[in-house]
Amino acid sequence: MATIDGNTLIARSLKRQGVEHMFGIVGFPVFGVAAAAQKEGIQFVGMRNEQAASYAAAAVGYFTGRPGACLTVSGPGMIHGIAGLSNAHENCWPMILLGGASNSYQEGMGAFQEAPQVELARYYSKYTARPDKAERIPFYCEQAVRTSINGRPGAVYLDFPDDMLSAQVEEDDVTIPERCPEPPRTMAPTADVQRAIDVLRTAERPLVIIGKGAAYSRAEEEVRQFVESTKLPFLTSPMGKGVVDDEHELSVMPARGTALQDADVVVLLGARLNWIMHFGLTPRFDENVKTIQIDIHAEEIGRNVPAEVGLCGDIKAVVGQLNEVLEAEPFTYASDTPWWSALSEKVTENKAFVQNMMNDDAVPMGYYRVLREIQEQAPPGTIIQAEGANTMDISRSVLMHKNPRERIDAATFGTMGVGLAQAIAAQVCHPGRKVICVEGDSAFGFSGMEVETACRYRLPIVFVIINNNGIGMGFDELPEDRFQSPAMAYTIQAGYEKMIEGFGGKGYSVRTPDELSASLKQALDDSMPSIINVHIDPQARAKPQKHHWLTA
Ligand code: ADP
Ligand code: MG
Repeated sequence: MATIDGNTLIARSLKRQGVEHMFGIVGFPVFGVAAAAQKEGIQFVGMRNEQAASYAAAAVGYFTGRPGACLTVSGPGMIHGIAGLSNAHENCWPMILLGGASNSYQEGMGAFQEAPQVELARYYSKYTARPDKAERIPFYCEQAVRTSINGRPGAVYLDFPDDMLSAQVEEDDVTIPERCPEPPRTMAPTADVQRAIDVLRTAERPLVIIGKGAAYSRAEEEVRQFVESTKLPFLTSPMGKGVVDDEHELSVMPARGTALQDADVVVLLGARLNWIMHFGLTPRFDENVKTIQIDIHAEEIGRNVPAEVGLCGDIKAVVGQLNEVLEAEPFTYASDTPWWSALSEKVTENKAFVQNMMNDDAVPMGYYRVLREIQEQAPPGTIIQAEGANTMDISRSVLMHKNPRERIDAATFGTMGVGLAQAIAAQVCHPGRKVICVEGDSAFGFSGMEVETACRYRLPIVFVIINNNGIGMGFDELPEDRFQSPAMAYTIQAGYEKMIEGFGGKGYSVRTPDELSASLKQALDDSMPSIINVHIDPQARAKPQKHHWLTA
């Protein structure tokens, strides 16, 4: 009778569950898992540290709606993979971490790289398990994938001891479950939908906030119809950008501060009232603000601010319900209100301010000028990864997205160091599209070695390093006694572009707008990855803000 081993059972089961991409680093005891994955038609991407591999797997979940897999060795490797597990968990993205483990019959004996892996993963996963025997691996793989995509999406963990991976079982003793279906598009009770519209009709200063939950649920059609039919002003969270065109006439993004502060009714579409949205509290929000909150996760509704109307369900389905009521009883918010005048005035004022900085051709350049070049040259459909304190923040106001899921960044958990991995995931999921990874020099450093990965797989990512010689703020020179250097300082004028040339990519060191323009053009045409190292003014800053970014 034919037999099958544990490695193949994992690969075949995951492939059947729609897992198409696996990132990882092989070693004891998981060599065979990677080989089996390739044989079963899962694309395996060998990376340089597990942290980056796990960030890439998490990003695949966001881009595709099915979990990306991260494969790690036992002990230390699995522990590094918790980085991505936590990132996926906090962002509500499906991801599956596969940890190799020491032999089950050596449990507790001080085996090679033995660690309490299932327990370690538990806090940051919706589901953690070590299969009880090899024959049941397919059962656990289906449970894991189904759990990761249903309800609020999230991370899951499976643990595989060496002896289970190498076990041979009779094929007849194994059942591989069918692919679990896409999650149901759950709807809200019609009475609540009606109530939401009633509240909206009473609003004097309404605002729609679009978050990455709307992007994840692919609700773009419904959300666009909703804002266009009601003519409500909207703004987005960083990763909600593009669900409706950032440059839509109803976007009040440039007036974000005013819009949040003075709105009396806020419609929350897949955005949490966490630190990114200043908790929905004063001084950033009106203390009497009413919220209409749509979220798939019932526990999220009412967090920090009790919801006036909570609609628990899938955003695409629930906004579709709102649209149905609106089709029967249309409601359009008037364009000649004091609220629209106040917002429009602020939009014009702030746009002009940013435009001035974008047009400043002075050398050394600032962030705005560099980002403007990217905005002008990026072809439609480009996916942008943006990371680094200033780089990420400023890119939100300069880089405009026409389509959803075109931006990925440090997101909810504020994870710095995700950049190269997320760019690799973006390019792997979307081979035909351009990917530009805009990194601060400090952010780039966390996983800089992954440029080798990008070169090895010939992923034509354009890495733009906005280099200010430091973390947040930079310096022009370092003191003679290097141990007296400011803690945030890095090597002055570091030649990061040289790294990539050792792997077959192309490096550019640029200082002027003309050099930037020429090198970006070339890099976007190249079939290999490039690094454009832009030496900016170390003192360059963002536009001053009224409130500190972490206003309590
Ligand atoms: P942002 O960072 O863009 O503000 P968050 O990650 O804070 O977005 O919020 C996204 C919210 O979307 C989460 O609370 C999550 O539960 C919710 N969500 C995820 N998928 C769906 C879906 N299909 N339908 C409704 N809500 C969803
Ligand atoms: Mg920097």
